[in-house]
Amino acid sequence: MTRQIWLGTSQVPASDGATFEVTDPATGEVIDTVADATVADALTALERAVPAGEAWAQTAPQQRADLLTRVFELIGERADEFARTMTREMGKPLAEAFGEVTYGNSYFRWFAGEAVRIPGRFTTAPGGNGHILVTRAPVGPVLAITPWNFPLAMATRKIAPALAAGCPVIVKPAAETPLTMLLLGEVLKDAGIPDGLVSILPSTHDAEISATLMADDRLRKVTFTGSSPVGRLLVRQSADRLLRTSMELGGNAPFVVAADADLDLVLAAAMQAKMRNGGEACIAANRFLVDETIAAEFTDRLTAAMDAVVMGHGLDEGTTLGPVITVKQRDRIAALVDDAVAAGATVTTGGEVPAGPGNFYPATVLTDVPADARILHEEIFGPVATVSTFATLDEGVRLANDTEFGLASYGFSTDATTAQYLAAHLAAGMVGINRGAISDAAAPFGGIKQSGFGREGGVEGVEEYLETRYIALG
Ligand code: NAD
Repeated sequence: MTRQIWLGTSQVPASDGATFEVTDPATGEVIDTVADATVADALTALERAVPAGEAWAQTAPQQRADLLTRVFELIGERADEFARTMTREMGKPLAEAFGEVTYGNSYFRWFAGEAVRIPGRFTTAPGGNGHILVTRAPVGPVLAITPWNFPLAMATRKIAPALAAGCPVIVKPAAETPLTMLLLGEVLKDAGIPDGLVSILPSTHDAEISATLMADDRLRKVTFTGSSPVGRLLVRQSADRLLRTSMELGGNAPFVVAADADLDLVLAAAMQAKMRNGGEACIAANRFLVDETIAAEFTDRLTAAMDAVVMGHGLDEGTTLGPVITVKQRDRIAALVDDAVAAGATVTTGGEVPAGPGNFYPATVLTDVPADARILHEEIFGPVATVSTFATLDEGVRLANDTEFGLASYGFSTDATTAQYLAAHLAAGMVGINRGAISDAAAPFGGIKQSGFGREGGVEGVEEYLETRYIALG
């Protein structure tokens, strides 16, 4: 049976009746058929979002908080269904899918709290001739475009703050992984969300839908998580109507290990930062930069840990590495590795595409990678670690910052001064110091440079959906 799109709280087929298939990346088998939302469907969603948003903006903050809390509870009750759905459509090991349910859902809990704390300010004008009152108003209808790597969390980081702020949302999930969002549609309905406030439109017509909605006067904001080229395109398209935008784009995270680092802690953090989600994470460690005096030991231990990774179907017990999302992505990763090897890199483990079925690529470690190899400059987005060395910490930091991206960086040292130096000098929106896992609903997630702008989570996250109003009081 075809899964239908959500236009508000109604599930309907696409206006032209078209569908597309969703496959299991571990087997290549078709697991579901989904209605393929059209541009007309997107315009209907916007039509419904406008009055729903106007009414929602007038609700009491506590009412908005209560809805988000109810959604949080219902996702928790259906955690098993969410986790299995994610593993089936995206491939990640089931334990990691449960982790994403907890993490993704934490945004509903966090923004339920923020909904009742939207700030403002009141001061006496310096001239003494009146008062300055600053309030916040919801920005209005939001288009949220999300990638396939975290099918739940990448969307909840947008939906929860938008609803907390008082905005309606049209969600366009990635066509590879639409099922998790369609399941969220059930939860939103069960939680009692007003009709029209959130629509969920899986579609293969991503470019047409976003271009049409962004050209429509009623849309006020685009929030995007995905690749930098698409982000740049959307920013260009947003210019004509001066739309508010938030861009969570690609990364090329360095992982800097000083000579005095605690290697047990470093190895555990390295496996988290590299292998979480099979490396298909925008904050995944892309480049390990290690003090030359400890590089051999680090490489041996990282190689052993990567050797111990168990590749398989995410639903199978014991699997610690699932498949890559598509053949195209798998081939892209293989090409980056082959290119580095051709230029002189050494493979200490992995490096060979296994026989099918499924889009698997093994846990791989590369050393002696030439400085100009593509793999050091492009986002790997897969289970491949590169290890390079530095002679001085300054050199390590310089290499770390030698990238057009600036999403996450990691630094490791047991010395407080060195750790502070790394925290201050690693150029990224987020810096993990002696930590390999940094995501937290209570913290502002986002990048600088080609990794984009805007923040998700924290007290900053709701600001993306608010505009500032100044009232001059006489
Ligand atoms: P992608 O940019 O190809 O696709 C992301 C989304 O954009 C999908 O929903 C897709 O349908 C849509 N899209 C694609 N082309 C479009 C167009 N022309 N107009 C409108 N929408 C379009 O990225 P991907 O391959 O799905 O995801 C991987 C990328 O996402 C990586 O670069 C990764 O770093 C990035 N990412 C960033 C973050 C972050 O928070 N910074 C988080 C996760 C992933």
